[in-house]
Amino acid sequence: MSEKIKMVTPLVEMDGDEMTRIIWKMIKDILLTPYVDLNTEYYDLGLVHRNDTDDKVTFDSAEATKKYGVAVKCATITPNAARMPEYNLKEMWKSPNGTIRAILDGTVFRTPIIVKGITPFIPTWTKPITIARHAYGDVYKNTEMQVQEGSKAELVVTDKDGKETRALIHDFDGTDGIIQGLHNTDKSISSFAKACFNYALDLKQDLWFATKDTISKKYDHRFKDIFAEIYENEYKSKFEAAGIEYFYTLIDDAVARVIRSNGGYIWACKNYDGDVMSDMVATAYGSLAMMTSVLVSPDGVYEYEAAHGTVQRHYYKHLKGEKTSTNSVATIFAWSGALRKRGELDKTPDLADFADKLEKATIQTIEEGVMTGDLAALSTIENKQTVDTETFLVEINKRLEKLMK
Ligand code: NAP
Ligand code: MG
Repeated sequence: MSEKIKMVTPLVEMDGDEMTRIIWKMIKDILLTPYVDLNTEYYDLGLVHRNDTDDKVTFDSAEATKKYGVAVKCATITPNAARMPEYNLKEMWKSPNGTIRAILDGTVFRTPIIVKGITPFIPTWTKPITIARHAYGDVYKNTEMQVQEGSKAELVVTDKDGKETRALIHDFDGTDGIIQGLHNTDKSISSFAKACFNYALDLKQDLWFATKDTISKKYDHRFKDIFAEIYENEYKSKFEAAGIEYFYTLIDDAVARVIRSNGGYIWACKNYDGDVMSDMVATAYGSLAMMTSVLVSPDGVYEYEAAHGTVQRHYYKHLKGEKTSTNSVATIFAWSGALRKRGELDKTPDLADFADKLEKATIQTIEEGVMTGDLAALSTIENKQTVDTETFLVEINKRLEKLMK
């Protein structure tokens, strides 16, 4: 066998929990280390080690990501009450994804992996739709109240000098009611916009953005204006050079156009729209196990992962010594995404080329009818064969070996 591919700069590797931790090691052993001289800075984000380090390891891994520019992350447990005794936790540690996102000030982009035999519920969606969700503010950081009949509700803003500005929300005449206060910041909206413009340039795909600015003439309009300003000043010429478009429309018009489209673009969504639309789009493409995710910071730092969780139910089966048929595709694509980006940044085309071949071999395996149970349940391919977790990776490697010759 020829020499292994070298890596110049380390890749930040964030290990995780349960079944995805098992898959993580298998992917490295079967598909990566035979071909690549893996140069990673390893952080164990498994819950045991997070608890041992009082979650310091999560913060350290995010700082390392800032330093090196690219990370790949395994799915991790976000502790709830049931995990406290299971892992004998000192505290109910916060979601690592939340912690990392806050440190990198990043935006999450989710893209479905499309294979022949698994038809989206919208059959004209022949190309992926990537959803970018603004993950700060609006209804997720709201203040709300129930209001009694006869009350007057106002917005009050007190500026630095103590001067008050008031606006009437509603006079509750003859009925009780409800009110809600929302906010966002120019800083967060600008970061979101930059992450979206950068990622569109990266993928060479059009960027769509939509709000309800005709109704919300100050709040939503501010989103529209910030996007437009940043586009005009910093990205317009780059978009023109790349032959891609920035397209703004109203949210209801966007929804209608998305349904009629063939896919192949990035759809930037406000927080609530992104929450709702990402679940709709993911479901329409078929399976959460076929959804990749990348966190992109406004200054161009990338963290790749699968969109699904740790697949706990399969892990308990695995612990009992039973074979599982867990789909590793999204985790493989997290690795290929990170290795490709590392190769691009380091100008090592061998590494980027390996990433392409790894993805190709994975898709080829499924399209030739070899797949895990979750996909077999959806695929219309004839003579399909359901395989266990490890056999699936071995089958991918058979094809990868040929592509690497
Ligand atoms: P999950 O791990 O995504 O799994 C939910 C179900 O979806 C599984 O039981 C399985 O269905 C199916 N599934 C998901 N991924 C699959 C795969 N790769 N192959 C085959 N089937 C797959 O979500 P969860 O059970 O709600 O959460 C488990 C843990 O993951 C939680 O502790 C949560 O905090 C964590 N989580 C982490 C992340 C992250 O790190 N990004 C994201 C979400 C959740 P069947 O059981 O029917 O086969
Ligand atoms: Mg949701």
